[in-house]
Amino acid sequence: MSDGQDVLQRRSNMPVFPQYLTPKQEEELRNIAKAIVAPGKGILAADESTGSIGKRFAPINVENSEENRRRYRELLFTSDKVAAENISGVIMFHETFYQKTKSGVPFTKVLQDKGIIPGIKVDKGVVPLAGTENECTTQGLDGLSERCAQYKKDGAQFAKWRCVLKIQQYTPSYQAMLENANVLARYASICQQNGLVPIVEPEVLPDGDHDLEAAQKVTEQVLAFTYKALADHHVYLEGTLLKPNMVTAGMSCPKKFAKEDNARATILALSRTVPPAVPGVTFLSGGQSEEDATLNLNMINAIQGPKPWALTFSFGRALQASVLKIWEGKDENVAAAQAELIKRAKANGLAAVGKYEGGMESAAGGQSLFVAQHAY
Ligand code: 13P
Repeated sequence: MSDGQDVLQRRSNMPVFPQYLTPKQEEELRNIAKAIVAPGKGILAADESTGSIGKRFAPINVENSEENRRRYRELLFTSDKVAAENISGVIMFHETFYQKTKSGVPFTKVLQDKGIIPGIKVDKGVVPLAGTENECTTQGLDGLSERCAQYKKDGAQFAKWRCVLKIQQYTPSYQAMLENANVLARYASICQQNGLVPIVEPEVLPDGDHDLEAAQKVTEQVLAFTYKALADHHVYLEGTLLKPNMVTAGMSCPKKFAKEDNARATILALSRTVPPAVPGVTFLSGGQSEEDATLNLNMINAIQGPKPWALTFSFGRALQASVLKIWEGKDENVAAAQAELIKRAKANGLAAVGKYEGGMESAAGGQSLFVAQHAY
């Protein structure tokens, strides 16, 4: 096999296989993915768009200015280096990716110096899918290759793209599942060609009163569409990560399920659809309270079952709710807020190996972080 983008494996009388990465490119992607899901480590998702971070700042009365966004992310990224024991990577929004500390050090360098891998959100948000019942797709493919090349040059090693699926009486539709799977596959392929590990995120929202079984069936079907599309686009699975929702009943389901039920349903959906070639699954927290997200992740790791992948976290709200609450926008609270981040990271790091025993109370502890029809 020779190097290059357009390589087809050709042998006489043999089928032709597309191969868009060189063995060296594949090795690089594999190593990045492996480092992100090293045992006891996961991702801090700090890639809230300007609008989303505004929603996090509003309850603590912090103005959504560029400087406050910078101050907040500086707080997160300059916490003690012990954070790197449990946080392997950080996903950033474009603005954050190019921001610096007050003393002028680029955030990407602050993270790299601690051994934390910088990542970048590359999608441009959701847009309505015409002819559906309020379903959506995600935009951002135009110019994506050029943007990925630039981010890679500037220190990113992985990227994220979020698609959203909704459970209603007649959804997710075939149209929505097919379209979102395909756009995720196109994104993943473009990332890989530019040396970025794609984090493939088909999020099934927790809005609704559906039960655990419905959530499991829908998640399973969405993942099946996703992996078919990744195969169709020749995505190199060993150099990808999956970021799904945990399988939980709808937020307004009257019936409550045990963590063990959630864990079993999650493993069932994953084991039927996610190939063992995928090195890791980094769950989003999806509006669960900090404690619930950690306990569910722990149970997913603790129970028996077919689990050929690392199962860890890529939490946004469930790693930041307490931090924000303690910070309140005040410099004098930075140290305490940073200590809280480390505590949450430690708890989730333990959960990622099934060893969290509970009781690491946090400021936002059991408080639900659910946001209806969540945008990011
Ligand atoms: P939550 O953990 O708050 O769901 O966010 C993670 C994320 O990155 C969603 O895209």
